[in-house]
Amino acid sequence: MKELDLREALGRVLELEEAARAMGCEARLLLARDVRVDERVRMQCRVNLCGHYARNLMCPPYVGGLEETRALLEKYTFALLLQMHRQEFPQGVEAAFHALALALGDALVRLEKTAFALGFPMALGLGAGECKLCADCAAETREDCRRPEAARPSMEAMGIHVLDTCARAGLSLEFVPGRLTVTGLLLID
Ligand code: SF4
Repeated sequence: MKELDLREALGRVLELEEAARAMGCEARLLLARDVRVDERVRMQCRVNLCGHYARNLMCPPYVGGLEETRALLEKYTFALLLQMHRQEFPQGVEAAFHALALALGDALVRLEKTAFALGFPMALGLGAGECKLCADCAAETREDCRRPEAARPSMEAMGIHVLDTCARAGLSLEFVPGRLTVTGLLLID
């Protein structure tokens, strides 16, 4: 980003936003400094209601501390907040949520590549929930990640307050009956 004129950089970021929409995402642009990190989010991971704490390599404690997240965010200029929705789930809500989170993760990795081609080599996607790429994460057997090219931590795993960040970007996370939503973030250098 440093070498790019700000106006030119913004034009390329808007291209990325269009690319995200073409992949089926609702997208909002915000400044990376407006992404909110909150200790309470990390505590929610620690109390482990989801059961993935220390059992998934894209979840805490494997993804580092909140100071690392804050330092990471400081390196980026822009952020694209992305949502995907699904309104039909014939296989059930859980299967639909799983598929939707995987679709968002796939879109984020593709957007990282698009960003790279547009001159943002450090673009980084953060997905939704624990990594779902393997039936059993390699964390269970203390092995390395089997698909590091595709696995990304979630916003919440990094300690990002998703609701607050969505509100700042003008994206609603309100529960809409009959509609599933997953939220992710693309950090752009
Ligand atoms: S790709 Fe597999 S091994 Fe890697 S974090 Fe995801 S579930 Fe775990």
